[in-house]
Amino acid sequence: MVKNILKLTFFLFALLLFKFSAFGQTPKFRVLAFYSTKVESDHIDFAKGAIAFYTKMAAEKGFAFDTTQNWDKLNTENLKNYKVVIWLNDFPHTDAQKQDFEKYMKGGGGWIGFHVAGYNDKYTNWPWYVSFLGGAVFYNNNWPPLPAKLIVDDNTHPATKRLPKSYIAPINEWYGWKPDPRDNKDVRVLVTLAPSNYPLGKKNIISDGDIPVVWTNTKYKMIYMNMGHGDQIFDSSTQNKMFEDAVLWLAK
Ligand code: ZN
Repeated sequence: MVKNILKLTFFLFALLLFKFSAFGQTPKFRVLAFYSTKVESDHIDFAKGAIAFYTKMAAEKGFAFDTTQNWDKLNTENLKNYKVVIWLNDFPHTDAQKQDFEKYMKGGGGWIGFHVAGYNDKYTNWPWYVSFLGGAVFYNNNWPPLPAKLIVDDNTHPATKRLPKSYIAPINEWYGWKPDPRDNKDVRVLVTLAPSNYPLGKKNIISDGDIPVVWTNTKYKMIYMNMGHGDQIFDSSTQNKMFEDAVLWLAK
């Protein structure tokens, strides 16, 4: 009898150990973040903050978070390993990288772009990417970087469901867009710069206009978030919820 109980206890203990080690070894999904240290120092600061933030989150939530500065890893073979790709303040520079990213997104891959990831102008010469962003082209920005009141247009979306109706976002350089992505019927704008911020800036002033800050082009599994300038972006526990929920949404 005692022998049997011992046997059973041992069996249960072994089972438990197996379960825990299996959990530790098999991530639920993989995320790959691309960044660069050859960009503006404020943009590198953000990338470093984001890497720390998502590394911690990955450990807590049981997914794998990899980072690289090698944009050639934006290739079809490598992307097969990842549910979500994050661009921390840079974008692909070669045609091969661009083509494989396009293939990845058309094949149902997930993407988060922060700040400069969405920057594009007449020299970008990548029409598919502009349409992927919902047609948004960089128009203006405020300088110096400043905190701003944001309006949450839509908190029924999985990425913004834990946000209040409005909040003060930490210091950022905010971008305006022309065309406005809100004019695209496939775009769902989630967060907007509150008009009460105007005039925003000193050297470069945003004085008016509709400025979406976070949106998704519903034709893809993507979300663009304009935050990403400086080392204070992750200081808002309110806003951080969106950074977390966006990953979990895209990984589903
Ligand atoms: Zn910036």
